[in-house]
Amino acid sequence: MNQRKVRVRFAPSPTGALHIGGVRTALYNYLFAKQHGGDMILRIEDTDSQRFVPGAEEYIIESLTWLGLKFDEGVGFGGNYGPYRQSERREIYKQYVDQLLNDGKAYIAFDTPEELDKKRQEISNFQYDASTRMQMRNSLTLSIEEVQSLIQSGNQYVVRMQIAPNEDIIVNDLIRGEVVINSSVLDDKVLYKSADQLPTYHLANIVDDHLMEVSHVIRGEEWLPSAPLHVLLYRGLGWEDSMPAFAHLPLLLKPEGNGKLSKRDGDRLGFPVFPLEWKDPKTNEISSGYRESGYFPDAVVNFLALLGWNPGDDQEIMDMDDLIRKFDLNHCSRSGAKFDYEKGKWFNHQYILKKDNKEVAAQFIPILNAKGVKADVAYVEKVVGMMKERVSFVKELWDQTSFFFIAPDSYDEKTAKKRWKEDSAMQLGELVEVLRTRAPFDSEGTEVEVKAWIEQKGYHLGNIMNATRLALVGEGKGPHIFDITEALGKEESIKRIQRAIEVLK
Ligand code: GLU
Repeated sequence: MNQRKVRVRFAPSPTGALHIGGVRTALYNYLFAKQHGGDMILRIEDTDSQRFVPGAEEYIIESLTWLGLKFDEGVGFGGNYGPYRQSERREIYKQYVDQLLNDGKAYIAFDTPEELDKKRQEISNFQYDASTRMQMRNSLTLSIEEVQSLIQSGNQYVVRMQIAPNEDIIVNDLIRGEVVINSSVLDDKVLYKSADQLPTYHLANIVDDHLMEVSHVIRGEEWLPSAPLHVLLYRGLGWEDSMPAFAHLPLLLKPEGNGKLSKRDGDRLGFPVFPLEWKDPKTNEISSGYRESGYFPDAVVNFLALLGWNPGDDQEIMDMDDLIRKFDLNHCSRSGAKFDYEKGKWFNHQYILKKDNKEVAAQFIPILNAKGVKADVAYVEKVVGMMKERVSFVKELWDQTSFFFIAPDSYDEKTAKKRWKEDSAMQLGELVEVLRTRAPFDSEGTEVEVKAWIEQKGYHLGNIMNATRLALVGEGKGPHIFDITEALGKEESIKRIQRAIEVLK
């Protein structure tokens, strides 16, 4: 039935850093658009000048670019439906405000904040609606002349939607099914403020979705309460036939599952809730980001995709192409998704394993350089390949691998006490001779030869291995001994053992 081209939009308000829940909304829109060969639009909803935060728009674009979400049109991307910043579309909205007023779907209201407060005190649970609007100062209760003269003498006003009471409004939601809301619970929402000469979110959002030919509105659950009003607006503007389909995504919940995920949860439990680091321009407070914390963008995408959606099977590791192929709004859950940040780390670990050693090494080299280490790229790749299974983040590699790059200059006291025996110096002296004759120096071959020597001499295998590890690493950690000697090479391995004999004997 619905033969329209799929066009979706991500429509953030530039009020600060983009929350990780907003990132998931953008991702789901993107997956849906790409699956259907559709367009993805970036629209900036900046009609609330009070809440505008400088830098937020750039932050949003940089975040989504980092994650590999590409827009087909919108702010920063061009397109034929612009401008895509709502603050640049004033004249467009004005025309539809006038249309609603002329058609009797909306009215002008002059009530000042003080007057509204007074009414709130008079009437408990006051709501500006069919039951109260005839007691207020608006174009329904004043004469045309009075309205004109109030406007002409510079009184500020708002335009309100006139909502008929007691009607069941049906919102067809692709995730939630049919949602029915009685219009009596709605208030006569403000659609336009003369003070800003700008519409409010509701009107601008509907006008833009219509003019930009948006086919599907996929957004967070927090917008579901606005949906009935939006349906009424489409109807009021005569656009009901081209109304987009709605899909309201489940909330992201606190890791414990009780309530909405907030920035404070991140601070409390030590994980980022923003894609990139964000410096609040007012307070200068810095909040951590997934990028700066060392997450791979594809791991973040994979992790977020599964917060509220599942592919219907057990598959967890999916790249963007897999996700585009498999994504399905019918497999989105209605109930909130717990934000399991430990799972996020697990995903990063899986991606570090999956990635080419070259790519991981390229990210590790600047860290090495910062530590004053200059190492051969091929060597770094080898070390990375050997050690990456032990870490979740590239930056954790340093702790695990530093001894591959810097010979120990001292030996962990506790380990030395326990592992360096009376005859260690003598035995390792002999080991040096065994190693010296070996060529090639590969792990397996060296292991066979060294073990044969130990057996022949009747030495204790464990003791020799422990002392050798101490000599090579400086402490009791690290991978398989002969993998270490292979990576270090003959000369360096022998040098380290000789030095340990000298220092520890
Ligand atoms: N500007 C709204 C927001 O910040 C957009 C809501 C919608 O997608 O309709 O999330």
